[in-house]
Amino acid sequence: MTQRADVVVVGGGQSGLAAGYHLRRLGIDFAVLDGGSLPGGAWQHTWDSLRLFSPAAYSSLPGRLMPAQPGETYPDAGHVLEYLADYEKRYELPVRHGVQVRAVHRDGAFLRVETDAGAWRCRAVVSATGTWSRPFLPAVPGRGVFAGRQLHTTDYRRPADFAGQRVIVVGGGNSGAQIAADLALDGVRLTWVTRRPPRYLADDIDGRVLFDVATARRRALDEGRTDSGGVASLGDIVAVPPVRAARDAGLLEPRPPFTRLTATGAEWTDGTTAEADTVIWCTGFRAALSHLAPLGLRGPRGRIATEGTRAVDEPRLHLLGYGDWTGPASATLIGVGRPARDAAREVARLLH
Ligand SMILES: Cc1cc2nc3c(=O)[nH]c(=O)nc-3n(C[C@H](O)[C@H](O)[C@H](O)COP(=O)(O)OP(=O)(O)OC[C@H]3O[C@@H](n4cnc5c(N)ncnc54)[C@H](O)[C@@H]3O)c2cc1C
Repeated sequence: MTQRADVVVVGGGQSGLAAGYHLRRLGIDFAVLDGGSLPGGAWQHTWDSLRLFSPAAYSSLPGRLMPAQPGETYPDAGHVLEYLADYEKRYELPVRHGVQVRAVHRDGAFLRVETDAGAWRCRAVVSATGTWSRPFLPAVPGRGVFAGRQLHTTDYRRPADFAGQRVIVVGGGNSGAQIAADLALDGVRLTWVTRRPPRYLADDIDGRVLFDVATARRRALDEGRTDSGGVASLGDIVAVPPVRAARDAGLLEPRPPFTRLTATGAEWTDGTTAEADTVIWCTGFRAALSHLAPLGLRGPRGRIATEGTRAVDEPRLHLLGYGDWTGPASATLIGVGRPARDAAREVARLLH
């Protein structure tokens, strides 16, 4: 049997919840379909020591401030999960967990959303599936030759899993720096590989400043002024306390990219090598968009052309939370509120 709703939101992480909050406020009939069995999206799967890079109040979805975590300035992922689960309940958002969306098709005046639990017919779709389910690994010579383990950021949990090992961490962004610091501070023998020398933000800069920069960028773009380049102009790595501690103790000495992996480790152009039991690729993510393939919207670099959050070639589709691509800071807790509101308003106009 085909179920119906005016709007289907695909994904019930923070972006899907923010969309749900605004759709509910506008009185729109909608359903949120989420493949995960529990609330919280990607926050369920992060490593144990991960903390937000902003204080709680600066990490809030629309309508409800995140409460502070007792004794902590920067809340941990468990605190974020509690907040998101409470948010879903408090606003009675109609999230169906454990429903994986396979495909979205055009169906005349409607869109048909096919899931592993039957089909839905709707008039608009908000896609908020995040990036966590699409880890990106670069093509590097020897990747198939290396006899040790290869993991991605998504697989990393805690340094104890690597006790006694030699580990190569690849990646000079926040995930790479934090995982490298986590391992090094626990005494794991680390080789940290970054494409360019790590660019740390000043020690007193946290997510609040990043959000201010993103807001200024949004304003500049809205007013047709030159793009400031956003947060990337400040640096790549937020110097959260463990990263600072490891860096200041001299434990985060980066090496440039190796030329290839060998059976037992990595080799550089100058002939030097590093033996390793495990390589952890902290090399980023891609947007999880395979369910939209039947719509034929993907352009260069796999992206769908958008104006704000609306797909240029399919106005019944909005994309939310995938990063700067769908609005500055839209892949952050505090930043997704505004694009979610804009998407809900546009959907309301489409429906009426
Ligand atoms: C290491 C790390 C640290 C971060 N730190 C911060 C921070 O300190 N502050 C901050 O604001 N942001 C931070 N972020 C960024 C951001 O908050 C997260 O990336 C966030 O999880 C993105 O939310 P989302 O809802 O867009 O996606 P997700 O949380 O990934 O949620 C997507 C949901 O969609 C579901 N889904 C996917 N595909 C389908 C499908 N086909 N059908 C049905 N359901 C589907 C998934 O199961 C999931 O529940 C961090 C990100 C990372 C990776």
